[in-house]
Amino acid sequence: MQQWQEHLKQIIGEVLIDEAALHKRLDELAEQINHDYQDIQAERLVVVGILRGSVLFMSDLVRRLQMPVELDFMSASSYGGTESTGTVRITKDIGQDIRGKHVLLVEDIIDTGNTMSRLIPMLQKRNPASLKLCSLLNKPSRRLCEVNIDYQGFEIEDKFVVGYGLDYNGNYRHLPVVAVLKPECYA
Ligand code: 5GP
Ligand code: MG
Repeated sequence: MQQWQEHLKQIIGEVLIDEAALHKRLDELAEQINHDYQDIQAERLVVVGILRGSVLFMSDLVRRLQMPVELDFMSASSYGGTESTGTVRITKDIGQDIRGKHVLLVEDIIDTGNTMSRLIPMLQKRNPASLKLCSLLNKPSRRLCEVNIDYQGFEIEDKFVVGYGLDYNGNYRHLPVVAVLKPECYA
């Protein structure tokens, strides 16, 4: 316990978004989403988390939604070419046909926009009743491909962040805050 706290002190350069700010913003986002989807009560909203970065954000968000919700997950990876020309492959697909359903994608961060600008058209072809995107973070300064973010948690500067779902080499996803590590940690 003590040891872990010491470790965090040594590696965290800056806490960009603390727990209070995250929870406040989650309340606001959920209020917006509850308002926007108030008419679909008879159906279910399919909330699709993009693995693995969205998991903490998604679990806190859906607990605030006041409508019938179904949870699903997908995973995608970019490969080939440069970041801007690379293709995106679905490595784990959702477990259902979304034709005629209302779908809300939940993502950790929109950076270059490469992943979402390719994934969203692929999902649109399946003819959902609606398809919207909710992202915890947005780094607009890095954008290479246009992405329409319907619900955005926070806009951040061009810094590599960890915590609250986001990792560095698989670590630090479980931190309750969004932080930047000290430069010497990004070796
Ligand atoms: P994009 O396709 O928009 O460039 O970014 C897709 C993915 O890159 C994000 O879902 C995320 O997994 C990763 N990514 C982008 N910026 C960051 C960052 O600052 N920290 C972490 N941990 N991952 C990032
Ligand atoms: Mg992601």
